[in-house]
Amino acid sequence: MHGQMVDRAAKEDAPSGRSNRPSLANFWMPFTANRQFKAAPRIFTAAEGMYYTTSDDRKVLDGAAGLWCVNAGHGRKRIAEAVGRQLLTLDFAPTFQMGHPIAFEFAERLAAIAPGGLDRVFFTSSGSESVETALKIALAYQRAIGQGTRTKLIGRERAYHGVGFGGLSVGGIVNNRRIFPQLPGVDHLRHTHDLERNVHSRGQPDHGAELANDLERMVALHGAETIAAVIVEPVAGSTGVLIPPKGYLQRLRTISEKHGILLIFDEVITGFGRLGAAFATDYFGVTPDLVATAKGLTNGAVPMGAVFASRAVHDALMMGPENAIELFHGYTYSGHPVACAAGIATLEIYLEEGLFSRAASLADDWANAIHSLEDMPHVIDIRTIGLIAGVELAPRDGASGARAYEAFVTAFERGLMVRVTGDIIALSPPLIVQRSQIDEIASILAGVLKSVA
Ligand code: PLP
Repeated sequence: MHGQMVDRAAKEDAPSGRSNRPSLANFWMPFTANRQFKAAPRIFTAAEGMYYTTSDDRKVLDGAAGLWCVNAGHGRKRIAEAVGRQLLTLDFAPTFQMGHPIAFEFAERLAAIAPGGLDRVFFTSSGSESVETALKIALAYQRAIGQGTRTKLIGRERAYHGVGFGGLSVGGIVNNRRIFPQLPGVDHLRHTHDLERNVHSRGQPDHGAELANDLERMVALHGAETIAAVIVEPVAGSTGVLIPPKGYLQRLRTISEKHGILLIFDEVITGFGRLGAAFATDYFGVTPDLVATAKGLTNGAVPMGAVFASRAVHDALMMGPENAIELFHGYTYSGHPVACAAGIATLEIYLEEGLFSRAASLADDWANAIHSLEDMPHVIDIRTIGLIAGVELAPRDGASGARAYEAFVTAFERGLMVRVTGDIIALSPPLIVQRSQIDEIASILAGVLKSVA
C-alpha cells in the first residue's frame, strides 16, 4: 500500500516531457480526490463567455458558473482592464487605520443595491471569511447592546457555510465536520429537504414552512437569552440545491425577531442575480440583519467577499470612545484595491446588462428544460428556482455518490461542466446563458443520464 503510494507520487513528480505541462504533484488540490484526479486530470486552459477550453482543445459549456461565481460569463474585458489599471495605480494599501478611495467607492456603490437596504459593508476575501465575519459581528452586536449572554449560534443541517471553524460548526455537512473540533454552543435546525412531499417542485416547494418552528424549539431548549444568531442559506447550493418551502424564511424572520436573535443570510451563492433579483433577500422579500456574500461580487475574477449589515447592527457597535477600534476583526485584504476595481467593473456589467433580472426572465424556460429530464433513468427529483437546478439521482447500492460522479465525468467528456454533491447534480450557468445553451445543457444531460449505469 505504502509502496504503491510512493510509486504514484514518483510518477506524478516525474517531468512531463513537455515544458508547458507542469507536474501535478505539488498542488494539493482542495475538495478533490487528489490521487484519482491526478491519474486522469481534467484541465481548463482558457475561458470566454459561456465556454471553457480544455487542455486537449475542446469547448466545455459552463453549467456551473465556474463554482457559482462567474455570473457575467468568462473573460470580461472590462473587469480585466479595471484590474490592470488599478494594479498600476495603487496595487495595495492597508485598510487598518488607513484608507484608499476605491474601497469607499465600491462600498458606496454596493450600498445602492444592498440586500434589504443593509448598507454598511465589511469587506473580506472569500465566502468563508464573510461567514466568520458575520458570525463575529453578530456576537459583538449582542454584547454591545447589553446581551452578552447571547453566545450561541444556530445553523441548519445540510448547510454549507465555508470552511472556517465558525462556518463548519454552523454548517451541516458531516464530512466537513467530523474530524475538526466544533465551536461550543452551536445547535442546528432541521433541513427542509422533503422528497416525499415536495418531489419535482418548480420554485418554492409547498410543504415545510413549519420547520422554521425549530427555532422556537431551540429557544425553549436553550433560552432566547443565550442565542446570538441563526444563519441559513436562503437556497442551499453546495448540499444539492435545497429550496426554502413557501413561507419558511418569513417564519424564521418572525421568530428570530420575536426573540432578539439576529438572522444571517448566507448569500454567497444566491447573491448577485442567481435567483432573478440582486439578492435572495429581495427575491423572497425577507430582510435579515446580516448578509454574507462573495463569489459573484467580483464575477469570480479576484477573490473577495462582503458582509452587509443593517444600520442598527452597525450603529450599535459605533459607541464607546471615538479613538477606540470598534470591532477587533479584519483581513489584510479587506477592501483590497484590485478586488474593488474588479467589483466595480462587475457591478457596472450587472447593471448595464440587466443581469440581476435575467434569471427571472429565463426561469420558465430553464425550469421547462430541466424538468423535461424528470423521466430520465435514475432521476428521483428535479428542483429549480431562478437559474439554479438540482437533479437528484438514486444512489447505487452501497456506493453513494458514485453514479453522480460518473455523470459528472461523462458530462465533462461530452462538453458540459456541472457540479455534483453526493448523488445530486447541481446546475447554475452564468446569467448570460442563451436559451439555445439551456437546451444544450438539457440535451447533453439527457444523453449522460441514459448512458450512466
Ligand atoms: N457559503 C456558501 C453558501 C457557499 O456556497 C460557499 C462556497 O461555495 C461558502 C460559504 C464558502 O465560500 P468560499 O469557498 O469562497 O470560502
